[in-house]
Amino acid sequence: MNNISFSPETIVTGLVAHPAKHSFSPSIHNTAASLLGLNFVFLAFDVLPENLESALSGMKAFNIRGLNLSLPHKKKVLPFLDSKSLEVSYSGAANTIVNEGGKLAGYNTDISGFTKSLAVYDELFRGKSAFIIGAGGAASVAIYSLIVNFHVKRIHLLNRTLQHSAYLAANYSMLFKDVQFEIIPHNDHRVESALSSSGIVINTTSIGMSPNTEQLVDIPFEALNRDSLVYDMIYNPLKTKFLEEAENCGCITVNGLYMLLYQAAEAFKLWTGKQMPVEEVKKLLPQF
Ligand code: NAP
Repeated sequence: MNNISFSPETIVTGLVAHPAKHSFSPSIHNTAASLLGLNFVFLAFDVLPENLESALSGMKAFNIRGLNLSLPHKKKVLPFLDSKSLEVSYSGAANTIVNEGGKLAGYNTDISGFTKSLAVYDELFRGKSAFIIGAGGAASVAIYSLIVNFHVKRIHLLNRTLQHSAYLAANYSMLFKDVQFEIIPHNDHRVESALSSSGIVINTTSIGMSPNTEQLVDIPFEALNRDSLVYDMIYNPLKTKFLEEAENCGCITVNGLYMLLYQAAEAFKLWTGKQMPVEEVKKLLPQF
């Protein structure tokens, strides 16, 4: 933890989420600040959706330098931002705010976090089809990154609420006209062939996230292609039932921990101007 004594100059940052108590972000940021000897603190605030607007007014009033946003605030925050990065505009979700003298600038560092976490697996799925479960902010991040950074040309979307996947597909089809989207309802006959033809299968829902670790995403796991990469954006627990099932099918699996670390590093840079010492942070945190 941070061993710096706090002062009126302390850079105050934090996470706004509901729930917030399972987050690893305070450990990551405070460890990084401590390693760099920065006068900095990162706190976790449990904020209900109906209190988001007042929390952001508080951010300005208390001159809090930066906030990360997690479930369920990433989309709801957009109307309160004074400016948005290109990634926020495209993905429709912001996970980082920088307070520039009372003006709130929104960024999406999840996109580069996701991209960096996948870099070493790139040859398994580059240019192939992708299968995405979910249609919220995290799904949007995955779609953006897969198209822009990994040249994926066909994306299958499976989600509980069809309108949400249809909305994402319609938005991205306008931006990327050469990418094909297929919206698949649960239990549709196309699920199996879409799964077996995809180079990457990603869970972007919160199904299986702590404390609901017994929940399992409803897909026919036997249809997974053994050569494909199976990714769960959840990092708590480190191995969800979804990843367990995929591993039993012989697939390579990845959890959301490195995505969390890399998105944190980019937010840290935006708030402090300093590079997070990522390798040292990893060594000091038991999760890595
Ligand atoms: P979100 O915008 O609220 O979207 C949630 C998605 O999950 C929606 O598609 C929703 O379906 C689906 N869903 C939720 N509960 C469900 C249930 N019981 N059955 C079926 N579908 C369900 O949330 P988000 O921001 O995309 O985040 C989703 C997950 O990604 C969370 O677990 C979050 O922790 C994780 N995440 C991790 C990182 C990281 O750094 N590793 C970064 C971002 C997000 P409907 O459309 O039908 O409501």
